[in-house]
Amino acid sequence: MSGHKDIESRRRFLKLVTGTAAAAVVVGSLPRMARADDLPHLSEADPTAKALGYVEDASATKDPKHKAGDACSNCQFYSGGATGFGPCQLFPGKAVSAKGWCISHTPKKA
Ligand code: SF4
Repeated sequence: MSGHKDIESRRRFLKLVTGTAAAAVVVGSLPRMARADDLPHLSEADPTAKALGYVEDASATKDPKHKAGDACSNCQFYSGGATGFGPCQLFPGKAVSAKGWCISHTPKKA
């Protein structure tokens, strides 16, 4: 009889521990996700952005170095999604447009 109670008690304990660990993982990942979304968008007026010829819409650039199809979304320095905004290694703390472009564009390796 007490063996059955021990097993029940152990089950409850394991459920509690598993649930707590899962909650800790979820809570621990929230600030990281929020940070990527909360990055301020890089302004074209930013001095470094200007120096690198950054534009939010690659189709708007008149820079002769721009090749058709080149955009932040296919640059190796970009780590965001295919649309919207995401981090760029050259602009720490800022998010660049997936449709953007600058003269440092380097195609992602396949
Ligand atoms: S380095 Fe690449 S991802 Fe960053 S702004 Fe320039 S083109 Fe976009």
